[in-house]
Amino acid sequence: MLDLMIIGAGPAGLSAAEAAAQAGLDYIVIEKGTIANTIRQYPVGRTMFSTPNEVEMHAGALKPVREKPTREETLSHYIHFVLDRDLKINTGEKVVSVNGNIDEGFIVKTDRAEYQARRVLFAIGAMEHPRRLSVPGEDLPKVHHLFVDPYAYVRKDALVVGGGNSAAEAALFLAEEGARTTLAIWREDWENRDPKAGAMKHWVRTPLEAEIEAGRLKVVLYKHVDEIREADVRLTTESGESMTLPNDVVFVLVGSDADLTLLKQLGVQIEQGKLAEVPVYDPETFETNVRGIYVAGHFTHARHIKAAIDVPRRIVPLIAQDLKSSR
Ligand SMILES: Cc1cc2nc3c(=O)[nH]c(=O)nc-3n(C[C@H](O)[C@H](O)[C@H](O)COP(=O)(O)OP(=O)(O)OC[C@H]3O[C@@H](n4cnc5c(N)ncnc54)[C@H](O)[C@@H]3O)c2cc1C
Repeated sequence: MLDLMIIGAGPAGLSAAEAAAQAGLDYIVIEKGTIANTIRQYPVGRTMFSTPNEVEMHAGALKPVREKPTREETLSHYIHFVLDRDLKINTGEKVVSVNGNIDEGFIVKTDRAEYQARRVLFAIGAMEHPRRLSVPGEDLPKVHHLFVDPYAYVRKDALVVGGGNSAAEAALFLAEEGARTTLAIWREDWENRDPKAGAMKHWVRTPLEAEIEAGRLKVVLYKHVDEIREADVRLTTESGESMTLPNDVVFVLVGSDADLTLLKQLGVQIEQGKLAEVPVYDPETFETNVRGIYVAGHFTHARHIKAAIDVPRRIVPLIAQDLKSSR
């Protein structure tokens, strides 16, 4: 029986693994993708929004060439964090069910094996279900719900749908690298200048506006997308007109949601948060209403990388104490 099963090897899971090792716990991390899978899926060459102190695992450990680290520098930092400490992580293994209780222990089934654990920490992130437009044609092969690199779309007609930073960055990268790009965005998102309300970061907006000025990027204020077809996309503009855009590739970047199924099956209470559903948990211990089941990271109220790293450092020692007193 393991002391602690950690699900997910993003910043939260990695931080939890180190804390568990330091507390002398018998732990394992199960990760369905790769180490820091979410960061690996950021656009190639992307500069982080955060400064090194907000994403590094230890002060001074991440030394970017510029002021802010790139995707590659951040990813390499997390990978070496794991290698240097020889943290126990199984990658390419997906947790498919968690059952049991704190008295008899939890049974964690994956697509490869079965484990028993006294405590389980969900650090599963919030990227599992990219949001969809739910319009005809969204399943065509040219439609993507993730943007990784612009290089396949030079001189192609690209449409990006979305109003947040991911959509704005994708449109910028595509326009800069020679795709004939259109960004379809709602007026309220385009006019939003409040960083606290999720407005586009100014260092994304400024070059984006330069691309518009130079005629390399078009912005369409739209109401909804009506249909995606092989050679074009039909949408309704905010003034109610129907518009048909010639099109080779579509990126639908309108956010994503965590998969809370396993938590719900365990009986964990869920509430509606500001942006999405969030599990209910004790703000001090991050334990849910199901004793022995903990949460950390992007799908809690502590969404950013800094909090994803800090929270497990606080709560894993509490889990270790709790385990000690229950023995
Ligand atoms: C494009 C983009 C840019 C961003 N930029 C920034 C930024 O500049 N600064 C910042 O602070 N934040 C940024 N974020 C948010 C940041 O990525 C998250 O805050 C961070 O990844 C949270 O870490 P986490 O460990 O909670 O979740 P994640 O990093 O998402 O890790 C969760 C892990 O759990 C795994 N997993 C899920 N379900 C299972 C399962 N059933 N079995 C096994 N494994 C499972 C996933 O594969 C994943 O690797 C950005 C997000 C995106 C999408």
